[in-house]
Amino acid sequence: MPSYKAPLRDTRFLMNEVFDFESHYKTLPNGEEATPDMVEAILSEMAKLCENTVAPLYQSGDEEGCRLENGQVFTPKGYPEAYNEFVAGGWQGLSHPVEYGGQGLPMSLGLIKHEMLGTANWSFAMYPGLSLGAMNTIQMHGTDEQKETYLTKLTEGTWAGTMCLTEPQCGTDLGQVKTKAEPQDGGAYKITGTKIFISSGDHDLTENIVHIVLARLPDAPAGTRGISLFIVPKYLPGQIGEDNGVSCGALEKKMGIKASATCVMNFDQATGFLIGPPNQGLECMFTFMNSARVGTAIQGVAHAERAYQASLPYAKERRSMRALSGKKDPEQVADALIHHGDVRRMLLKQKAYAEGGRAMAYFTAMYADHMIAGMLENDQKKYDKWDSELGFLTPILKGFLTEKGLEAANEAMQVFGGHGYIKEHGIEQIARDARIATLYEGTTGIQALDLLGRKVLLTSRGKCVRSFSRNLVDFGRQNLKDARLRPYAWKLLKIAAEWNYLTTRIMLAATKDRDIVSTASYDYLMYSGYAMMAYFWALQAATARDKLENGGNEPAEFYKAKLATAEFYFDRLLPAAKGHADAALKPTRSTMQMNAEHFSFDYE
Ligand SMILES: Cc1cc2nc3c(=O)[nH]c(=O)nc-3n(C[C@H](O)[C@H](O)[C@H](O)COP(=O)(O)OP(=O)(O)OC[C@H]3O[C@@H](n4cnc5c(N)ncnc54)[C@H](O)[C@@H]3O)c2cc1C
Repeated sequence: MPSYKAPLRDTRFLMNEVFDFESHYKTLPNGEEATPDMVEAILSEMAKLCENTVAPLYQSGDEEGCRLENGQVFTPKGYPEAYNEFVAGGWQGLSHPVEYGGQGLPMSLGLIKHEMLGTANWSFAMYPGLSLGAMNTIQMHGTDEQKETYLTKLTEGTWAGTMCLTEPQCGTDLGQVKTKAEPQDGGAYKITGTKIFISSGDHDLTENIVHIVLARLPDAPAGTRGISLFIVPKYLPGQIGEDNGVSCGALEKKMGIKASATCVMNFDQATGFLIGPPNQGLECMFTFMNSARVGTAIQGVAHAERAYQASLPYAKERRSMRALSGKKDPEQVADALIHHGDVRRMLLKQKAYAEGGRAMAYFTAMYADHMIAGMLENDQKKYDKWDSELGFLTPILKGFLTEKGLEAANEAMQVFGGHGYIKEHGIEQIARDARIATLYEGTTGIQALDLLGRKVLLTSRGKCVRSFSRNLVDFGRQNLKDARLRPYAWKLLKIAAEWNYLTTRIMLAATKDRDIVSTASYDYLMYSGYAMMAYFWALQAATARDKLENGGNEPAEFYKAKLATAEFYFDRLLPAAKGHADAALKPTRSTMQMNAEHFSFDYE
């Protein structure tokens, strides 16, 4: 597999030319330090770490995997050293409070850092990534003492964190959680239960691991209203090395991300501490859920990018037959794959999803910055406003981008032909690694239900779609008179109308038939993803057009390639949205009419 190269040109194009992060940072209470020089230093230093230290472990980590020996999990060769380098660089606390040792920079920089790290090696990025979930939870709901005890070490990266939700009987429906928490004298609790599929549940990268665990207090109400949240450290503070009843029972054998330890975690009378109010564990858990989901959405971008970086050079090197329009490499025995229309389709799809997805993620990251600004300014109204704006974008990003990342990885494998299916080129690893992104942190189906059922219908009665689609309308109106941007302007105006129409039709249908919320949800989510990505490709095209005429930071060919990719997206990928809209509007009958017993007559 070719080595990883951080796509810094694209990152700079988005940050400096499309979105103007410099001005954005000036509006934030924690944006003062995020000067262009500082941002540039972060990007280039992170790129070095990713290219030179983290990416080279991608394939070897997959081959070696993690191992469990005498109750201790060991990560693959090179991981502890790479992690130490990451910690020594102060990367874990980049966007976390200065008072706990972080650098206090805006969250968007943390997400961009995560994108680079994850594209270089997603399994590696999982270890610091899961810690961020624990850090955010403690920061938001912990007592001062809990913050003091845990946040400093977590921000440093010398301790790591996990999120322990899933149990054998439940992943999506956490109302079924059975893990028990019994109060002890002195305010602590004894936690007993088994959690499965816990990422980074145990490993050899840090001296301690802080588990955030969902459990039930005695006499807690049944279902989601009876779940509380606990901090359960592997070793109690001040007692490093002394057993606290937390152990890894097994490592899951799995399809991909093999260098990420996915653990069965046993809590056997482990001492834990309540975090947040009793029985409100799920609510507490869901704070920052939006930013966590953006973090997973980035996995889609990461795999599309990595897949493209692998398949592009192959398509330029490998030769097969002649291009239909005549010889392109006449001195060679055959033309390179890249000259064939169908191969170009596969390459451009990967490029369009990687760069379109990156634009969606960076824009959303700016919303996350505003949300954090609300928190830092103690402005609850501001926090809620941006959290709610984020709440609409995140299921679309998580659902759509992870599905498209997987599609891109499969297309990359196709570019390699049979050579993609065997291990040698490493492309099959990207496809295996990409698969999980559509499953954890809420499956695509659950993102779709969250989007349509909760965010669009229940909470806002379509207002969130009306509000976001105004961006498309504004772009359409502003650019209708510009002959070169008119096709995009028309299309966006049409999509804005169609998206709202689709929403209203489903809303009306749902008053008579509630099943439509579930039967239509996947297609609605995919439609929304295509519509949103169209807006971000139009924005990139408009910027590229402007820079071509008025001069920009990149060479003209860069901007021309942007325009060509935007055109490809609108011509060749966006039409899929129409199919999703048609399917979403179909009555539930064709999906729901068959009796569950009649799905097969040959087997149960
Ligand atoms: C590698 C890996 C790492 C993971 N890391 C963690 C971790 O760190 N911490 C953690 O707590 N968990 C983790 N998980 C668990 C993961 O989050 C769950 O597997 C996921 O949430 C889905 O839950 P489930 O597997 O129980 O599937 P189920 O909930 O049983 O769902 C099965 C299928 O039914 C669908 N479905 C369920 N309910 C509905 C509904 N009401 N309407 C429509 N469709 C529905 C789902 O979309 C899905 O397609 C990890 C899993 C894996 C494989």
